[in-house]
Amino acid sequence: MADTTAHLDGNCLAGPLSEILSVEPTAAWWRCPQCARSGPLADLHVYGPEPGLTARCPGCAHVALRLVREEGHIWLSMGGSAGAFRFPVA
Ligand SMILES: [Zn+2]
Repeated sequence: MADTTAHLDGNCLAGPLSEILSVEPTAAWWRCPQCARSGPLADLHVYGPEPGLTARCPGCAHVALRLVREEGHIWLSMGGSAGAFRFPVA
């Protein structure tokens, strides 16, 4: 089990995340944790648009990503049960 007594606050993620979130999304490569299939973002099967977009692995239908847009925000969940992040948008 990880040592949870020594930690940094979430602000230390700002630098690495800004590098990831500022690149062209279609350049992303994904890998399915369930069937190990991998490929470019365009290979994912996307369902929606309401209540949001759900991208699934074309090999096994495992949820790769969920994206829900609401007034002033976008919720992003990577993977099937990894929680979600809410990003403010203009
Ligand atoms: Zn899969």
